[in-house]
Amino acid sequence: MARGSIADLEGHLARFRRLGLARLPTPLEPLTRLAGHLGGPRLWVKREDETGLGFGGNKLRKLDHVLRAAVEAGADTLVSGGVAQSNSQRQVAAAAAKLGLGCDLAVYHGRLAPPTPAYETSGNALLNRLYGARLHDVPWTGDRNGAIRDLADRLAAEGRRPFVVPYGVSDGLGAVGYASAIAELARQCGERGFTPRAVVHCSGSGGTQAGLVLGASLALPETEIVGIDIDAEPDRVRADVRRHGAAGADLLDMTFADDRVEVVAGHAGPAYGVPHAATVDAVRLAGRLEALVLDPVYSAKGLAGLIALVGAGRWRPDDDVVFIHTGGAPALFAYAAALAI
Ligand SMILES: *Cc1c(COP(=O)(O)O)cnc(C)c1O
Repeated sequence: MARGSIADLEGHLARFRRLGLARLPTPLEPLTRLAGHLGGPRLWVKREDETGLGFGGNKLRKLDHVLRAAVEAGADTLVSGGVAQSNSQRQVAAAAAKLGLGCDLAVYHGRLAPPTPAYETSGNALLNRLYGARLHDVPWTGDRNGAIRDLADRLAAEGRRPFVVPYGVSDGLGAVGYASAIAELARQCGERGFTPRAVVHCSGSGGTQAGLVLGASLALPETEIVGIDIDAEPDRVRADVRRHGAAGADLLDMTFADDRVEVVAGHAGPAYGVPHAATVDAVRLAGRLEALVLDPVYSAKGLAGLIALVGAGRWRPDDDVVFIHTGGAPALFAYAAALAI
């Protein structure tokens, strides 16, 4: 089996210096009890929920690269946005606090009906206030970056020097940042003596998957990257993965392997942010068997997708499959009353 060139990927990435917000490398751990329960391939988890700063998550790896541009541009304020329980804007707020920058966030209302009374105030919403972000309520229109840009324009007119962090921290530079997860993972798997058959994760704004595909095309060429759509918009997710991947490939002087983008539909439940029975089952199973804290918007739907693929017999017992835990645990508390856990 081709080993791929980890050094080649690391060489490409070495041209991009990280700010150092995320605590890396994140651990790779076996999921022995979950694998035993499901009866399929060997399972592992890459703990991207343990990137440290402000409760961590997958956005910090992207922010390490995207915010270097903000610092170099002399920005005094980070501007981003998301729904009230967005993990992305919570990580932007945490980074702003750590870097000594202001933080203004466009909080989208109307993308989903609040599932609990705590939705607007607990979990990530509480942490945003704790980290000192200023919150601006705006209506959801479907244009993910529109209100963020409008807010930045308003702040610039007031004399501030805003820097726009795109929705989900997904753009070409974010994808470059996420490719580093594959360099780490390839080394960690190599130390344990296996090449993963597949890497499975949930996919939303697409930057994470774009980076994983970019990295894997150099360092894990035999490994399937399987994105689980959690937005109930698989075509939009696929298109965004390709767009951010192409932009990242330009920055890295590579070509993006469009044919390696697999986005699996059918595990998002009724809509973004709305948990269904398989979501709740995955939250319970991960907690009971592995003391792994998943969230009902992203990581639990990702695991629900993995469980369904294992059940369908996609992999053999001697395959190694890595689940990427992308974070999101704070949202669990905001959803608690709707989950009956
Ligand atoms: C943002 C997020 C994702 C999705 O990552 P994208 O790069 O937006 O596709 C997955 N899991 C969690 C917990 C997230 O916060």
